[in-house]
Amino acid sequence: MSRTPETGAFAHHVGKIAAALDRFVEFEHPDALVNADVWRKQLGGPLPPDGVGIDAVIAELTDVLIPNGARISQPGFSGFITTGPTTAPTAAALASAIAAPQRYTMNAFNFVEETSLVWLAELAGLEPHMKGVYVSGGSVANLVALGAARQHAYESVGIDPGANGISGRSPVIYASSEAHHTIQRSAGVLGLGRSAVRLVPIDDRQRMRPDALEEMMAADRVAGLLPVAVVATAGTTNTGAIDPLAALGDIARSHGVWFHVDGAYGLLGRLDGRVADRFAGLELADSVIVDPHKWLAAPVGVAAAFVRDRTILQRAFAQGRAEYLEGSFVADDDVHNSMDSMGIPYDDFAVELSAPARGVQVWAIIRELGAAGIREFIVHDNDLARRVTAAAEAHPRLEALTEPELSIACFRYRPPNQSPDGLNDLNERILRRLVRETAFAPSATVVAGSFAIRPCFINRRNTLADVDGMVEAVVRIGDDESGLGAAPAT
Ligand SMILES: *Cc1c(COP(=O)(O)O)cnc(C)c1O
Repeated sequence: MSRTPETGAFAHHVGKIAAALDRFVEFEHPDALVNADVWRKQLGGPLPPDGVGIDAVIAELTDVLIPNGARISQPGFSGFITTGPTTAPTAAALASAIAAPQRYTMNAFNFVEETSLVWLAELAGLEPHMKGVYVSGGSVANLVALGAARQHAYESVGIDPGANGISGRSPVIYASSEAHHTIQRSAGVLGLGRSAVRLVPIDDRQRMRPDALEEMMAADRVAGLLPVAVVATAGTTNTGAIDPLAALGDIARSHGVWFHVDGAYGLLGRLDGRVADRFAGLELADSVIVDPHKWLAAPVGVAAAFVRDRTILQRAFAQGRAEYLEGSFVADDDVHNSMDSMGIPYDDFAVELSAPARGVQVWAIIRELGAAGIREFIVHDNDLARRVTAAAEAHPRLEALTEPELSIACFRYRPPNQSPDGLNDLNERILRRLVRETAFAPSATVVAGSFAIRPCFINRRNTLADVDGMVEAVVRIGDDESGLGAAPAT
């Protein structure tokens, strides 16, 4: 066997992978855990002393790994807020892996890094002054945005937290009780502490209450705390609720506090005219995040953080001059070769130096469909959540638990004469059987104490039949669990 790695013949080798993926997305294979004993043995074992060579590696990928992959790309999958990517951004990711392994230097991939950020910002309805940087996901995007907020807050009291760390007044961040937990984690990583995040109560539609925020901020100010950010969520992870951005932004502004909008999932929901007005107030944001790997179905690993002014990110995250980087490039007015410049210094705007050219994935999907095509599927996905909710409202043994704003529906099975106490257990059992016995895989949440079956529709392989089939399967399994119906077909 050859001892040097194969570096070419992509059409031959990657062509085999592509063919295996075409088979994979037919979903005719059994679930990964059915044959786990076999593939664990094939894929595990001790460190190989000798290589098997490229052909054997490709064969193991096509024959063992791919058929035992995740169900996330499956048409009936509607769990969490995640989905399998479509072809254009997947092809773009593959293309950049070889043709532009890093996002830097003055090449076409680097150029579309910024083009795609500008397009994405416009698609999301951001003000033209909002400038972005790609990071690996919403978790890091929130970290970066809150790093900017920390810089802003402490600079206002004469401290440079990026350079010297925080000292003096204790920080506080405001987010609703439905905010994503990466807000707390970001506060921890930024040295503010997870306990600096104060949870603002929500209204009966899971939205942050501006009156409660105003009250908490006033009290904390008297107590001498330093407000770092108000974090609003545009599309909560649990139910898709959109916090009242205009009211919250006004309060943040009136206190001189950074206003962050976490739109990791929901920001592009504004493309649906039915809910566009819920995003009013977005223009007040100092920072906004959105995950193309959610509703745009890019391969997982791409989120954008936008801020009013990227120089604050440089103050928060700059690494300082490194001779191996800056010393290798020339002044902007002397750039004649792709290696003459690093391009826009994205590495100083966040926490990664080496990073893939992720922008091309976003560029590819926007180029493929245009704003109109993207609007079309967002409206369609929001329709699906309304369709499930209407079906739950119409069925005597189903109950809708939310009125969807975006593409998340929350509902449960509720037979007559069932005590409210048993409903959570019953629905947990129904969800588990649904996932195990059918091709449908929504996930769960809790809405005001009630366990909810929670499909989130962002899956481009999902069809109407998958959506209706899921609702029918919940009824069928629910009836069986309650002794009301015939044994379920599988
Ligand atoms: C998904 C999500 C996140 C986290 O994003 P990742 O890409 O999973 O790291 C943050 N905030 C909200 C509102 C989300 O829905």
